Amino acid sequence: MNNRIDILSLTFEEFSELLKKEFGKGDYHARALYRAIFKNGRRTFDDLEELKKSGDFSKQFADSLSFPPMEIDSELQDEVTKFVSKLGDGSLIESVIIPMNDYSTLCISSQVGCRMGCSFCKTGDMGFTRNLTTAEIIGQVMIAHHHYGADIRNIVFMGMGEPLDNLDAVIQSLKILTGQHGFDIPYKRITVSTSGLAEGIRELIRRDMTKVCLAISLNGAEDQLRRTIMPITNKYSLADLKDALKSYPLDKKGVFFVEYVLLKGVNDSDEDVQRIVAFCDGLAVVVNLIPYNGENFTRPGDDEVDQFRLKLVGHKLFVRVRTARGDDIAAACGQLAAERSN
Ligand code: SF4
Repeated sequence: MNNRIDILSLTFEEFSELLKKEFGKGDYHARALYRAIFKNGRRTFDDLEELKKSGDFSKQFADSLSFPPMEIDSELQDEVTKFVSKLGDGSLIESVIIPMNDYSTLCISSQVGCRMGCSFCKTGDMGFTRNLTTAEIIGQVMIAHHHYGADIRNIVFMGMGEPLDNLDAVIQSLKILTGQHGFDIPYKRITVSTSGLAEGIRELIRRDMTKVCLAISLNGAEDQLRRTIMPITNKYSLADLKDALKSYPLDKKGVFFVEYVLLKGVNDSDEDVQRIVAFCDGLAVVVNLIPYNGENFTRPGDDEVDQFRLKLVGHKLFVRVRTARGDDIAAACGQLAAERSN
């Protein structure tokens, strides 16, 4: 065959179709190969039981595969494992493995940089370079699984980039991640975090992708204030965002995660409590408060964070404070920027 198989960008159904067309092999072989690559991280197949009677097919097939050029550029391991991947064009992206009790959550990037320019965000400071391909998104999961041996059962699109600004590649990745012959991660264990691209949320609805969990990076619940922190508010007002959320069909027990990075003296007043309550009114939400951890703003003290939390709880909101290091990362997009960690 002339074209190589860009394997990490294919769903099982697409792969199966291609295998039939290029090699005349049916679903039996497709299942074995897809599982060997995605579940077991294999790149050679000589000893695969299912291929033993297939002559030199296993070699021909292995030679036809193409993987995105990605290598680990640096890593930092403590409570969590952060790894920076170097892409084919030299761009760097960061991913984080967060150990839970008996499995791991993986926080992945969807773009190199980000064009949303949120003022509290390291990635926003970098500006936008390019979208990741589907294979580069899936490549991060392959590295976490097969290089680090992590048992990844939760995925959060909360690394570098605005996932809904790279919708085609993100949607294709979701289909691959949830495919039962590959990673087989249920939609309810995958969260896409957005800065509030109302049109992107509507597009998820149009494309029937609403089984995935949504996190909204709110950080300001009144337009004027939010514009100063998150310029995307100029394009999509909070009313527009709420309108999009209201039309997003949630499961019976489903909720939206509302992420709120607390910036001392900026978005932590009593008035802000009222604004958050008003925004959340009529939506099923869990509010995650994240004390700011950076240099552009001041981080509120633990007592102030707790007071803020209690005021929200007083309005019958379910609120969590994310303080542990891994939780910080998993609770808000934009806390990552691919800095070399060694
Ligand atoms: S917070 Fe998210 S959307 Fe905003 S600049 Fe950072 S990565 Fe982009």
